[in-house]
Amino acid sequence: MEELVRQKARELLSTRQLECVIGWERASDGLTSRPFFAYTPEEADRLIYDQTCVNSLAKFLVDKRNKNTAIVAKPCDTRAINLLLLEKQIKRERVYIIGVTCAGMREVSFGYMGEKLQAKCLLCPQHNPVVYDFLVGEPVAEEAVRSYEDLAEIDARTHQEREAFWQEHFNRCIRCYACRQACPGCYCQQCFVDQLDPQWVGIRIAPQENHQWNTVRAFHLMGRCIECGECQRVCPVKIPMMLLNRHLLREVESKFSFQPGLSPETPPPLATFKPDEDLGI
Ligand code: SF4
Ligand code: SF4
Ligand code: SF4
Repeated sequence: MEELVRQKARELLSTRQLECVIGWERASDGLTSRPFFAYTPEEADRLIYDQTCVNSLAKFLVDKRNKNTAIVAKPCDTRAINLLLLEKQIKRERVYIIGVTCAGMREVSFGYMGEKLQAKCLLCPQHNPVVYDFLVGEPVAEEAVRSYEDLAEIDARTHQEREAFWQEHFNRCIRCYACRQACPGCYCQQCFVDQLDPQWVGIRIAPQENHQWNTVRAFHLMGRCIECGECQRVCPVKIPMMLLNRHLLREVESKFSFQPGLSPETPPPLATFKPDEDLGI
């Protein structure tokens, strides 16, 4: 697959007016990977694709929105691309998508590659790109039914126990905003948390403010989160945000039969409104 990715990138950089091809290259530890922008056909030879290519790349397209760009995209990246297309952050005609099938990424950190798959990949519902111009790899069978087995433990808790669970985790948040920076759905030019007038959330790192930050961010992603798992993966204190994201995702799926990122045309239910709608409340 890696050689096919390189070949396609070389061809695109030689024959089209492209700014660059966004993909992954080997990191300086010689083991893991890091995002890489190939600007010339020669640089395309540095591209890799293997089970260490865990970083989501779709968000880089927002910075390149006015340039013609190609991107190597895993299935979760293609769902992020659909989200960005739907929300008019990028233009389809400016993006060439080299879709790659994905059997899951392994647990990695600098200088380390484990045997196990990333937690997000164990539950991933999508192993084929949902949008692409060129596909690398044979399409793979998808799971027929989506599983929320990871939520069973927290579902079994009482309301008070859940509150205590999240309070304990949110208290550990250091407000570094790595989760926001990695998230393809977090592209606001000014995040609510940085606004001073009005000030929605205080800058103090303290329980109440931490709670507000984490819950408002999760609700902002409700019906939009495409489950790339990057927010949890990059969190330095390992707050299990995917439990909250996937709880909200399950609500949206059960109430509206909607899964984000599958189409660049269907708006998320919570972003649509009909004046005569019966809300059932
Ligand atoms: S979440 Fe799915 S598409 Fe994304 S890396 Fe994991 S298995 Fe691949
Ligand atoms: S909230 Fe997390 S899992 Fe969802 S799109 Fe953002 S980074 Fe990905
Ligand atoms: S990455 Fe983790 S510690 Fe940093 S702001 Fe997000 S939840 Fe808090």
